[in-house]
Amino acid sequence: MRAAVVREWGKPLVIEEVPPPHAGAGDVRVRLRVSGVCHSDVHQWKGGWPAERAVMESLGIRILGHEGVGVVDELGAGVTRVRIGDRVGVPWMNSWCGSCDVCLTGYPQWCPNSRTTSVSVNGTFAELATVSERAAVAIPASMDDADAAPLMCAGVTAYGAVRRLASELRMPPGKIVAVVGGAGGLGHYAIQIARALGYRVAGVDVGPERVQFMATLGAEWAFDVSEAKAEIRKLGGADASLVFTPKIAGYELALKVTRLVGGVVAVGIPDPSEGPLPVTPSSLITHGTRVIPTSVGVTHEFDELFRLYDRGLVQGHLARRGTLDDLSRTLQDMAEAKYVGRAVVAL
Ligand SMILES: [Zn+2]
Ligand SMILES: [Zn+2]
Repeated sequence: MRAAVVREWGKPLVIEEVPPPHAGAGDVRVRLRVSGVCHSDVHQWKGGWPAERAVMESLGIRILGHEGVGVVDELGAGVTRVRIGDRVGVPWMNSWCGSCDVCLTGYPQWCPNSRTTSVSVNGTFAELATVSERAAVAIPASMDDADAAPLMCAGVTAYGAVRRLASELRMPPGKIVAVVGGAGGLGHYAIQIARALGYRVAGVDVGPERVQFMATLGAEWAFDVSEAKAEIRKLGGADASLVFTPKIAGYELALKVTRLVGGVVAVGIPDPSEGPLPVTPSSLITHGTRVIPTSVGVTHEFDELFRLYDRGLVQGHLARRGTLDDLSRTLQDMAEAKYVGRAVVAL
């Protein structure tokens, strides 16, 4: 099969023929049509996440991508629910065990027996990929391949983050949510989802183009990062902040604008070279700040997100449609923040 292969970290991907994967027990093989391109692909491509890089090197994983959509063409042993010809998504969570205490308490994203697409299983920048039957996402017939692909990671991660306002922070509609990085690949979904769920949204991003973009998405307030602290404090502070910006500075801003006994939902992953977040236990305790981590999403969260999508409450902003041949350029442009919205590649 044809695939975009990482031969050297951070160097252009090499388009080559590689042996096709086959579906192991409990897995299905998907003939991919489209894959989204995620900011995590940039980090992985550059070898910037040491833990993921070590797993990739030890297992010989060389194909990135974790927002695949295609049609099932091979079933592994024991598959009962998914059928040949089903249109499914291949998300970041490639499998989880479903029976450990982490899975059983409702957080399979943290399952210690899980596999991850593009880290421990080859990814979706290829003609074929495999995914467990459990993790394969059924795509509604009404949804285009290119619209569905970015929901497999960016959309569902944004949904999961907003969902935590209710599930973990018990925040009712009408409260103010700061979305830090609101014009980005995840943030632009989060603004729409938060609004759809009844929250009042203060978007924060960098530069007039991105501030304007957040306003068009339905943010009640859209601030440049330079004015965000003062302006959000004028509103009385945010009841919660969602941090999508993969920068320590984004977390520092969130801690400063969040009200007493508010919440900070952690999504964006700064490069480890930025060092730790400078926060003291006493400041967390004094302010009563609850810090909630979140990571991607799983089956029922996809279903909930699709319902919002189906009602026209959430739309992706597709900035680019490319192919494997121009994928390296897209990754480089994404690293330099040269476009707003999501990119997809046809396979
Ligand atoms: Zn992703
Ligand atoms: Zn598990």
